[in-house]
Amino acid sequence: MKNVLRNVTAARFNERFPVGSLFHYYPMMGIPDYEEVITRSEAWELGHGAAVVSVIGRAGGLSVDHLEPIKAATCSQCGCDDHHACVSEQGQPCHWVQVNRVTGVGICSHCAEHLNQINTFGEPK
Ligand SMILES: [Zn+2]
Ligand SMILES: [Zn+2]
Repeated sequence: MKNVLRNVTAARFNERFPVGSLFHYYPMMGIPDYEEVITRSEAWELGHGAAVVSVIGRAGGLSVDHLEPIKAATCSQCGCDDHHACVSEQGQPCHWVQVNRVTGVGICSHCAEHLNQINTFGEPK
């Protein structure tokens, strides 16, 4: 579980992981037992700053630092991925406009802006 999301803000989490993202959830830190969960809300921050997100089939929020992203998705156009966002001339990191966590393929915001010859799956129109 080395890829759990430590010190991730709710805003950052929401940029990278749209509602419906797949994670391994580790109920107990340090114990390698996990459940697969799918988010059903955007993340939000509790009063003390911890980011939590709700998932299908569970009430309340799970702390995002118990979540491990299952698969890093890659942009079908530029090849950026969850761990290496591309950065615009204005210094803005990209986010996913569309991402399929099962196939691990998406389209990032920087590519989508310039996209008119291809659809969001990277296929010619
Ligand atoms: Zn891209
Ligand atoms: Zn990108």
